[in-house]
Amino acid sequence: MAGRNFLFVPGPTNVPDRVLRAMVVSMEDHRSPVFPGLARACLDGLKPIFKTTTGHPIIFPASGTGCWEAALMNCLNPGDKVIVARFGQFSHLWADMAARLGFDVEIIETPWGEGAPVERYLAALEADKQHKIKAVLVCQNETATGVSSDVAAVRKAMDSVKHPALLFVDSVSALASIDFRMDEWGVDVCVSGSQKGLMLPAGLGVTCVSQKALEAAKSAKSRRCYFDYADMVQANASGYFPYTPSIPMMYGLRESIAMLLEEGLENVFHRHAYLAAGARAAVLEGWKLKLCAVAPKWYSDTVSAIMVPEGFNGADVIARAFKRYNLALGAGLSKVAGKLFRIGHLGDLNELMLLGAIAGAELAMLDVGIKIEPGSGVAAAQNYWRANKPAAALNGVGAKSGLAA
Ligand SMILES: *Cc1c(COP(=O)(O)O)cnc(C)c1O
Repeated sequence: MAGRNFLFVPGPTNVPDRVLRAMVVSMEDHRSPVFPGLARACLDGLKPIFKTTTGHPIIFPASGTGCWEAALMNCLNPGDKVIVARFGQFSHLWADMAARLGFDVEIIETPWGEGAPVERYLAALEADKQHKIKAVLVCQNETATGVSSDVAAVRKAMDSVKHPALLFVDSVSALASIDFRMDEWGVDVCVSGSQKGLMLPAGLGVTCVSQKALEAAKSAKSRRCYFDYADMVQANASGYFPYTPSIPMMYGLRESIAMLLEEGLENVFHRHAYLAAGARAAVLEGWKLKLCAVAPKWYSDTVSAIMVPEGFNGADVIARAFKRYNLALGAGLSKVAGKLFRIGHLGDLNELMLLGAIAGAELAMLDVGIKIEPGSGVAAAQNYWRANKPAAALNGVGAKSGLAA
């Protein structure tokens, strides 16, 4: 098919040409005396991305899922109790993993379309007088439903009852796109990956571990080897790895960190908020459709999950968009399969790219018979962007309260 493929799934995201070029390198010796320069650029470079000075960024040759496992197996003892709110496929998969690895998982069932229910986390922690709960798991941005949660509020809830559990946060589809603050929020393990806000191919599990988590790991008896934090931290201290790292991915990561810092991390967040608000204007004001996220405070700035009207199948929209218009949209997963389609709006992205996706989704919806006004989504997004600047978008259409401030 002529022309570019429009990649608008919420990961993998578009890799900037600069990053692609940076990854075209000959292989080299990862035990050479110059290698630590690259390692340090990546590991130290990630600190401002995680907003940490005391945490240890770690990159595993893996994906976000590997970092989920690493968090559980490094910091906990077999059978330990963990608590997690489930409100979408990704929070479900992490909870499911914890159960399959033998942990005692208390699930806070939450309607899909809502985010982390802070008061229910608080109630569970308050009731846990014996401190049986060893880790609190939170999905910052539920990619399946386009819902963001307030991680700082979960930390506040933990502190308000002086609960000593570790705080594990899935920031796979938030890091480097939606604000994340490792130190300020007292996060013990942040789990992320390379193929979303970091604008790289999949292949690196990108995680950050607090001192408290490393302390817990010293005595934690769960079995791990490949994903052992201590091995990694020890080797990283001199700029090396316990096994062969993916060198092209590291050159790519160094470049993507440089791009993020050149733009300025806060500007990156503002751009995402502003672009997301335009996408939401297309959905809500243009097409007059609903988002899966049920209230503005849950709206995600990296992905919009768009409900198709009763009687239509979201999978048909996605298939039509792909086959006819070379546009990749995100599918409805599990409980919401067929009920929605998703537009990922994160990473290397601007207004015109996103207008391409909105226009393509519009065409595909019209083709399958959904009654929207042609051009209505495009016009609503255009109107939003013409009336707002990136920083001002925080107070614009459907802006989240508090979170992005
Ligand atoms: C993509 C994603 C994951 C899974 O990460 P992989 O890199 O595919 O292993 C986990 N959680 C969230 C919220 C995600 O968006």
